Amino acid sequence: MLTADEILSRGRAAFLGLAIGDALGATTEFMNPREIQARHKVHRKICGGGWLGLKPGCVTDDTEMSVAMARAIVDAGGWNLTGIADNFVAWMRGKPIDIGSTCRKGIRNYMLNGVTESPYNEWDAGNGGVMRMLPAALFTLDDDALMQRCVVEQARLTHNHPLSDSACITVGRMIQRAMTGANRFELHAITRELIDRHPNFQFNNYKGNASGYVVDTLQTVFHYLFTTASFEECLVGVVNQGGDADTTGAIAGMIAGAFYGPDAIPDRWSRKLDDAVRQEVLDLAERLVRLSPWGSLWQQ
Ligand code: MN
Ligand code: MN
Repeated sequence: MLTADEILSRGRAAFLGLAIGDALGATTEFMNPREIQARHKVHRKICGGGWLGLKPGCVTDDTEMSVAMARAIVDAGGWNLTGIADNFVAWMRGKPIDIGSTCRKGIRNYMLNGVTESPYNEWDAGNGGVMRMLPAALFTLDDDALMQRCVVEQARLTHNHPLSDSACITVGRMIQRAMTGANRFELHAITRELIDRHPNFQFNNYKGNASGYVVDTLQTVFHYLFTTASFEECLVGVVNQGGDADTTGAIAGMIAGAFYGPDAIPDRWSRKLDDAVRQEVLDLAERLVRLSPWGSLWQQ
């Protein structure tokens, strides 16, 4: 059994892991494994660069949208979908370094028409709803039904597709169970439930596709999560696969952060992360977990 403090610190590690995976993976985003190897041998430093020309330790839309959502929940002291959408609008107006086309379309649709659920679109099976879902998982800790509702609502602001919905629920469940002490077999069983419903997500015989298609993204994350034995090796694995590496890094980072906990996160990565980002994600994670059903029980 984990103590309440350990559970809280795993929530913090999940948000820190997300930001670290984003910062680390941005360097190799849209490269292929051969190009990465030629340039870095094995990429394992937060060194910035990449196609965005990022400063070392800076993060991209994956972390920024997560922070925007987390702030909206914390400011409202509860779930507030229009508050989240408003923060996405403010974030987009601030000319972010990167924004996905499906995210842009959904945010514009909210700005112009007040729509908080994008219409179903067969092309919306991108990973943009999953990459930023962590705050919804932290805020709903210990209530699976509430988690399902919130992760899907936030995703559908921009991405309305059953594969995205199912991916969000699966990752949300893995994060929550990992935070409360699940072992790797239990996490693997959660992926089995997803694969039973959507066989596409099968990740045995992983083919190495790491695109922004949510199926490729989760196959990459799951492959490295279950074939490595540490936070560090899991993240090194996904970011050296290239493709949508900042996003596979972010998703692997949130699950592995929750699973391995704060002591498993290399200091050199934590220290390299932008100070303001590190402090804010740790603070927001703690507030979200305290606001959750688990947190309200614990604080009684
Ligand atoms: Mn990104
Ligand atoms: Mn990306």
